[in-house]
Amino acid sequence: MKFTELGLDDIILRAVVDEGYTEPTLIQQEAIPNVLNGKDVMAAAQTGTGKTASFTLPMLHRLLRHANSSTSPAKHPVRALILTPTRELAAQVEESAQRYGKHVSLRVGCVYGGVPMNPQIDMLRAGVEILVATPGRLLDHVGTNNVRFSSVEFLVLDEADRMLDMGFLPDIKKIVDLIPPSRQTLLFSATYSEDIRRLAGDWLKNPVKVEVAPRNTVTDTIQHTVLNVDERDKSRQLVRLLTEGKISQALIFCNTKIGANRLTRHLQNKGVESEAIHSDRSQIERTTALENFKANKTKVLVATDIAARGLDIEQLPHVVNYDLPHNSEDYVHRIGRTGRAGQKGEAISFCTPNDQESIRAIEKLINKKLKQSEPVRSAPARSAPAREKSPDRKQRKQPNVDSFFSEPYTPQKGLIVSEKGGVVDEKLRPRAKQADKKPLAALFMPPKENK
Ligand code: AMP
Repeated sequence: MKFTELGLDDIILRAVVDEGYTEPTLIQQEAIPNVLNGKDVMAAAQTGTGKTASFTLPMLHRLLRHANSSTSPAKHPVRALILTPTRELAAQVEESAQRYGKHVSLRVGCVYGGVPMNPQIDMLRAGVEILVATPGRLLDHVGTNNVRFSSVEFLVLDEADRMLDMGFLPDIKKIVDLIPPSRQTLLFSATYSEDIRRLAGDWLKNPVKVEVAPRNTVTDTIQHTVLNVDERDKSRQLVRLLTEGKISQALIFCNTKIGANRLTRHLQNKGVESEAIHSDRSQIERTTALENFKANKTKVLVATDIAARGLDIEQLPHVVNYDLPHNSEDYVHRIGRTGRAGQKGEAISFCTPNDQESIRAIEKLINKKLKQSEPVRSAPARSAPAREKSPDRKQRKQPNVDSFFSEPYTPQKGLIVSEKGGVVDEKLRPRAKQADKKPLAALFMPPKENK
């Protein structure tokens, strides 16, 4: 199917061409015509499927009639409100909406916590048609009358399941109550729980249900590997993995913020450029860490689940679960950071003898057997290097060391190593090259008035 068959205005198709997209993804094929027809949509789609464009493109199309370049704030009321669980996702969605709407005179802006209110107040008072927000900070602005919702025509609940997990339900209820009932509502969720279905029943009108991948499935472009290691040997094995040329860049997950900080320091001490991203870091630190990682200035970004949910990092070749997640569904979200939009990726999970049950739970959830490595032996005793010098020992194959660590890295079939050292799908090479030339994501840009 071609983008031109979806019924989008030419001015929006121009932006799609600028992005280098050649054909709509499945969620885009399903959702765009329904949104254009004015339907409420309930979509089960994880990040990486192209879901942001699936709601932003038709929304821009339907809002075209309001496009204007007047400087009067009254001419730029909020017409579309997009709620997201995290600041990073809000910034990402804003950036995508700016790009998809770059030929249209509609303003796009973003509000989230952890940064000063004043620039956001100025932006809201100047007027903005498409507003991306996290619920808490948005309510702060509602409380001080910086924003009104009487002209809202679209409400998007992005990653609704995560917003519920994070306890945003009371805030979202307050916001939804302020939005005219005549609105069109779009709900996106990676997973469908009973709570999500109940919300959809309350807030959506005869929604069209769109499901591009069955619940909790993972993209089949991702290769899964489980590395069996001793608990006390994990950090050493990780350093080894990162310094032996097998991995050009990796997003590494820890279960706690303290653990993430400790691991980041350890990797830095071992000469691996690393930064941490989690909710105890200031917004500016989080943004810088993410920008450095996206620009390939750091090799490793160590993250907790909250901070990493929804991150869109182009051509991320590896996700490493240094700690296995407590909740199997988080495995799906974590590894969804790689293998995005048809690219290939590898998910490597460290597994100690105590983690076997978690592996079984993950396998059950995603209905897939994970490839397990042979157990990797703990760090040798201090005297070992001297003994290894003996010539006949050198020749001998070490039976307990997994070939994953001892053999040179050869990318999966169909993967190529880019000039930057990143691993990309051969088929996507032209697009990857083009992406390399793009300027950095402007996460804090004030809303632009489009020409
Ligand atoms: P999302 O699921 O919205 O986070 O999108 C994941 C990635 O897919 C983003 O980097 C988009 O730029 C990219 N993308 C979205 N739509 C398409 C498309 N039709 N063709 C190729 N890439 C796309």
